[in-house]
Amino acid sequence: MKMKEKGVLAVVSGFSGAGKGTIVSKLINNYDGYALSISATTRAPREGEVDGVHYFYKEHEEFEKMIEQDELYEYARYLDNYYGTPKAFVREQIAAGKDVILEIDVQGALQIKKKYPGVLLVFVTPPSIEELSRRLRGRGTETEEQIQGRLDRARDEAVYMDEYDFILIVEDPETGTRKLHDLIQAVHCRPSMKKAFISDIRAQLDTERGE
Ligand code: 5GP
Repeated sequence: MKMKEKGVLAVVSGFSGAGKGTIVSKLINNYDGYALSISATTRAPREGEVDGVHYFYKEHEEFEKMIEQDELYEYARYLDNYYGTPKAFVREQIAAGKDVILEIDVQGALQIKKKYPGVLLVFVTPPSIEELSRRLRGRGTETEEQIQGRLDRARDEAVYMDEYDFILIVEDPETGTRKLHDLIQAVHCRPSMKKAFISDIRAQLDTERGE
């Protein structure tokens, strides 16, 4: 009997401007079997945002209770609000066989690795910092000071690049998306993901020998 395989949890981090948002949305839209993790937050919904779609919106006390009860893989505070990754949603999706993608910063990624050792950590980067600056300036939406801020942050994040399982160098979004898909599919081949298959193979061998 073929057992339904559980999904992979993959965290995608990377420099701001590296194109990770684009490749994550292409992955979700172009391939089957993926789900995006939905974070919990205490910030108010923005115009057009929907509870359970963009975020799970929580009261401050509710969020702190989730922290106390260890219901989050990781969390952080930005501008007086909490943001975190609820375990329940990820677990449900993984049990249903979905590969769950989490777009999260380096600190969050390293926190998750402690609580979920099988997690796949992928770091997305452009081929060079020259290219990163070009992409950031090409957006035309930010001041020079904001761009410098992003580059400073990139320097802080680069310190942790070798904690990741894979460094995904994105030349163009299409190739980057396919490479990300291939990396996640490779994780499905790990022995830890194939436990049911392995014991089935062993049982078949035992049967063969008994005949
Ligand atoms: P925004 O309020 O603009 O939706 O998000 C603010 C910041 O929170 C962004 O940098 C976003 O990446 C971060 N963020 C969103 N969800 C999570 C989460 O689950 N965990 C962590 N650590 N950060 C998150």
